Amino acid sequence: RQGMNIVVTGGAGFIGSTLVRRLLDLGCSVSVIDDLSGGREENLPNHPGVTLHRLRIGTDTADQVEAVVADADMVYHLASPIGVALAHQARYEVVENILSSGIAVVRACKAHRRPLVLTSSSEIYGGGLPRPLREADPSCLDIAPRWGYASAKMALEQMGAGLCLEHGVPVWLIRPFNIAGIRQRSETGLVVASFVAAAMQNRPLDVHGDGSQLRSFLHVEDAADALMAVTSAASLAGRPINIGSESPITIGALARLVLDIVGSASPIIQTPYDDMFDGLFTHATSRIPDIGLIKGATDWRPHRSLDDAIR
Ligand code: NAD
Repeated sequence: RQGMNIVVTGGAGFIGSTLVRRLLDLGCSVSVIDDLSGGREENLPNHPGVTLHRLRIGTDTADQVEAVVADADMVYHLASPIGVALAHQARYEVVENILSSGIAVVRACKAHRRPLVLTSSSEIYGGGLPRPLREADPSCLDIAPRWGYASAKMALEQMGAGLCLEHGVPVWLIRPFNIAGIRQRSETGLVVASFVAAAMQNRPLDVHGDGSQLRSFLHVEDAADALMAVTSAASLAGRPINIGSESPITIGALARLVLDIVGSASPIIQTPYDDMFDGLFTHATSRIPDIGLIKGATDWRPHRSLDDAIR
C-alpha cells in the first residue's frame, strides 16, 4: 500500500480515526471526507499525509465526492450516523444519510473503478439467534425501532454487492459487531464508552434490561486491522463479512468490569426495556459473531483484550 492515496469517509470518527493512523503508518496518504456531525477534527493526527475534506456526503454533493475519489486508489466508506437513540429519534434523517451517502460513494467508485470497503452493521441481524451469527443466516430484520438504521445498512450492502457483482469493482461489505476503544464517544449511547464515562464521573451505570444479554467487544485497533486485511482476500469481495470478537460477556459483567478497571464506586442501576424508546427497543439476548469467514480467508485474528479497550 505504500504511496497509495486512500479515501476514508467518516475518518474523523471513532473507527475511522484509528484506520487513518494505521494507513499513515503504512506510508499511505489519506483523504478524509467527514462533515464532523459526529466526528471531531482533533481526532485526526497532525500529519502531512492527512487531508480533511469537510463535506456532508450525499447525492447533492456527489460531484465533490467523485472529485476526491478520482484522485485516490481506493475508498473506505465509514461515514454514517450511529447510536440507538439517534436511530430512534431521527429515523428518517438516519435512513436518508445512510442511503444518500451510500449512493454518492458507490457512484464515485463505479465511475472511477475504485475498490471499496464499506461498513454495514451487525444490527441487520435484528433480534438474532442464541448462537454466533453467520453471514449466511437469514437476517431477522426487526421492524422497530432500529428498522431505519438496519434496513438502510442492508440497502447499502446491496448497493455495494451490485457494484461488485454487476460492474466488477471489488467491494468488501463489512458487518462490524460491537467495537470499543480510544476516541469512542459516550454520547452515542454505545455501551462501553457510556459505562466508562459514567464510572469516571461517578454517575450510575445504566444497564438495560436485567443485564444478562450477551455481547462481545472488538478492540478498535483489531477492527482497523480487519478492515485492511480483507482487501488482500479477493474471495471475500461482494459478500458480507462479520468482524467482531468471539469472546462473549454479559452487559451486567461488563458494568462490573468497567467499575473495577476505572476504580469507581458508581452504582449499577437497571432500566427495564419496556421503559426505553416507547417500549419499542429491539432486544437481542445474544449478539456474537461467527468470524470463521474472515479467519478462513485472511490471517487476521483479534489480538487485543477488552480490558485494554476499556483502558
Ligand atoms: P462515528 O460516529 O465515530 O464515525 C462516523 C463518522 O461519519 C463521524 O465522524 C461523522 O461526523 C461522519 N459522518 C456521518 N454522516 C456523514 C456524511 N453524510 N458525510 C460525511 N461524514 C459523515 O462512528 P464509528 O463508530 O466510527 O462507526 C464507523 C462505521 O462503522 C459506521 O458506518 C458505523 O455504522 C459502523 N459500525 C460501527 C460499530 C461500532 O461499534 N462503533 C458497530 C457496527 C457498525
